[in-house]
Amino acid sequence: MLDLIKWQLGIKKPSFLLCFTELDWQDIHRTLRQHSAGGRESGGYLLGTIKEMGRGRTQILVSAFLPYRALGATSSAQWLQIPNTKKRRVYRHCRELECSIIGDIHTHPNGVEQSEIDKQNPMNPDPSRRHVALILPKFATPQPATRLTGIYRHVGRKNRVSTWQTIPRHLRRYHINTRSTHHSHGIIT
Ligand SMILES: [Zn+2]
Repeated sequence: MLDLIKWQLGIKKPSFLLCFTELDWQDIHRTLRQHSAGGRESGGYLLGTIKEMGRGRTQILVSAFLPYRALGATSSAQWLQIPNTKKRRVYRHCRELECSIIGDIHTHPNGVEQSEIDKQNPMNPDPSRRHVALILPKFATPQPATRLTGIYRHVGRKNRVSTWQTIPRHLRRYHINTRSTHHSHGIIT
């Protein structure tokens, strides 16, 4: 309990803060809700920049969203696949927008726990990037809310097995800012 008060008072601070503009936060949900159409997984890359804030803390600014559908992804309720021939396009967008892959977001049919496939296949193959993976419940149909969003941070690989930091539900809102005012390119179509 005392711990939560420290978070509320700002004495305890998150090691990373993922920042979205309000418009992007809403648009990403709307896009994924449409792409999932109530029955299949959907998602996309979060592109942006990372700002070191000192004391091991980082601010991650999301400045573009690249839906997997724009890369020709196909999906069902349980899986999603991007054709290998189109995977490299994400790097072209990164170069053009002068940003990098900082995370990803995808929908699940029900809860926001990572599946084994999610855990062992980070969308960014470079573990040093400390990729952040977000999961939206019920195919993104609920009103957008940070407390409903699964938040996981890739913290590295040991014996080729990926390990993740899971942000507990009651601390989710301290790790995502949905009212940032930085410049964003929005949704890439
Ligand atoms: Zn998943």
